[in-house]
Amino acid sequence: MRLLALILAVTFTITGSMSHAADADEPAAEPLKILLIDGENPYHDWQTTSPVLQSILRRAGKFQVDRVTLHPADDYESDAEIDFKNYDVVLSNYNSQVLPPAEAMRALEEFVRGGGGLVVVHAADNSFTAWPEYNKMIGLGGWYGRGDGSGPYVYYKNDELVRDNSPGPCGHHGKQHEYVVETRKADHPIMQGIPAKWLHTQDELYDQLRGPAENLTVLATAYSDPATGGTGRDEPILMTLDYGKGRVFHTVLGHADYSLRCQGFVTTLLRGTEWAATGEVTIPVPEEFPTEDQVLVWE
Ligand code: ZN
Repeated sequence: MRLLALILAVTFTITGSMSHAADADEPAAEPLKILLIDGENPYHDWQTTSPVLQSILRRAGKFQVDRVTLHPADDYESDAEIDFKNYDVVLSNYNSQVLPPAEAMRALEEFVRGGGGLVVVHAADNSFTAWPEYNKMIGLGGWYGRGDGSGPYVYYKNDELVRDNSPGPCGHHGKQHEYVVETRKADHPIMQGIPAKWLHTQDELYDQLRGPAENLTVLATAYSDPATGGTGRDEPILMTLDYGKGRVFHTVLGHADYSLRCQGFVTTLLRGTEWAATGEVTIPVPEEFPTEDQVLVWE
């Protein structure tokens, strides 16, 4: 409840400054428009996680969220055409290997290339193995036929960024656990004010992701401990990519609803989404935040 009160206080502050702007005869800030996409996500309870994602975004007081549930089972024939131009950001909680119609794929590519934002949450980076431009947008992905030809592994080893072209599988995680997320780009707008190390609540820790990894910046990593079935490498957790004029924020966090309730996930998702939309970040880092040895989750 204490955390909820803090979030309400933050929302009040934002609302307060907006009314002040209105008093000064300036237009109030338009909400950033987000399109949340779901409809399939094997091994993931997307019917539960999508509403949590919506709730997180709405509580920030800065976003308007529309949710579209796609129907890959009928090759998207029952789905209406999406006009991406109505949105600042597309946020994907969607994992399917059924490719959308060619014109829809091209529309998303043109949206991002033209300056739109894309946010990729967890298993959305498993989606669309056979769509080359999608793989460029997400940078790194896993499973579903990805492998040696998908691109290098990217990870930190001895505090150095490694791009590793050695052959091997693509996509893996050990058993779920809490783990420390470590900042690698403290000066990036999304990361400014985020503690250097914080303990994420129970989640999968993806490892051995591979992909084109072009124009990719690793913002944060986590040590993938062999004791929990990991690689012994520091695996990418938060990433950004440039795709044309567009910005992509990719978080591998968020396996289940309890993983999403981590204040570290919430804060980085909000700041990453705002950055993908505008290239800037104004959403504050809350004072109450996980520490290196203490998780902090929404009740
Ligand atoms: Zn998962």
